[in-house]
Amino acid sequence: GPAAPHSASGEEVATHDLGAVAPPARPARRWMPKRVVATPAAYDHPHGLRIMERLGELGLETERLASNRLTGVRGETDRETYARAKSTLAIVVSPPSRRRLQPIAPSADWRFDLAEGCPAHCQYCYLAGSLSGPPVTRVYADLDDILAGLADYVGRGTITSRRAARRDEGTTFEASCYTDPLALEHLTGSWRRAVTFFGAWDAPVQLRWTTKFDDVDGFAGLRHEGRTRVRLSVNCLPVTSRFEGGTAPLPARLAALRRLAEDGYPVGLTIAPIMAMPDWRDHYGVLLDAVAAAVDGVRDLDLTAELITHRFTPGSKEVLLGWYPRTRLDLDEQSRSRKHGKFGAVKYVYPPETMTALRAWFETEIARRVPACRILYWT
Ligand code: SF4
Repeated sequence: GPAAPHSASGEEVATHDLGAVAPPARPARRWMPKRVVATPAAYDHPHGLRIMERLGELGLETERLASNRLTGVRGETDRETYARAKSTLAIVVSPPSRRRLQPIAPSADWRFDLAEGCPAHCQYCYLAGSLSGPPVTRVYADLDDILAGLADYVGRGTITSRRAARRDEGTTFEASCYTDPLALEHLTGSWRRAVTFFGAWDAPVQLRWTTKFDDVDGFAGLRHEGRTRVRLSVNCLPVTSRFEGGTAPLPARLAALRRLAEDGYPVGLTIAPIMAMPDWRDHYGVLLDAVAAAVDGVRDLDLTAELITHRFTPGSKEVLLGWYPRTRLDLDEQSRSRKHGKFGAVKYVYPPETMTALRAWFETEIARRVPACRILYWT
């Protein structure tokens, strides 16, 4: 079940030699949904039909729903609903609210969505508490309209205008806020279309997304023109092996990072969520050394890092404990500082002493172990 997707213990994995990163022969994981549904409206969009055709070639039949509402995913218990939803793919038209872009500092000027939901089982999942209803993975049939709509936002946005260090990126668009692109690309082709769309765009723009998967074969050789920065979401082994069920193993993600960098993509690390577990310096040291080995000798490397510490809200904690009742994730409010986020929402972050120690360590050790890497932000 989703609560126990891991077999390796921290002790076992800590001794793995991450220094030797060999590209895997094929992606470590490819999700195949148990059930595929499409709303009637999805059939009116060329990309909806393209997705259905692609799925057909993979032997997956699409079931046409009677209405544009998604039904029939609730089970008897929360866990059953979770399991059903997580094995369902829905082809839908994006809701109108998603077509008005939101600013998403510090990551990018704007976020836009090509999908919502993800088949992986991270026990700290960022989606918990921010999406409503059962976590069905929805992919958007109106991709062409979504991409065409981005033109309205070029030249606007706080990051382009205020951050000197990132001016050369142009207007930045983040496409993985509510999903994991490489978990779904083999089923949709959506992010490849986005990459070539940005590559052909006659304006200073950058597409950005982050992933915990390694299925990059289809991206090598695309006409990206350096306008897509792919970040691999990485963490130390105790986190990747205990808490990130259904994702690609860390060495596979690092091999994917190298592959993209060698193909001329600007690349990045999303180190998140950073956890202050016992011996965190040792564990994150192993990670940074593995990153250094993975990018060693890559020509014209453009590598950034985004550093995000673990945090939770009362709402995300409740949802996560429903999904993963036996999790060993540290969700103890007593050991955290209480902060008020946007719109007054409460969140629990590491206390200031821990934050300072983590930040100082990461800044020093990234500069020392991976000197080519530019840190974009810490949060
Ligand atoms: Fe959630 Fe991201 Fe993990 Fe998917 S990869 S389960 S969206 S945290």
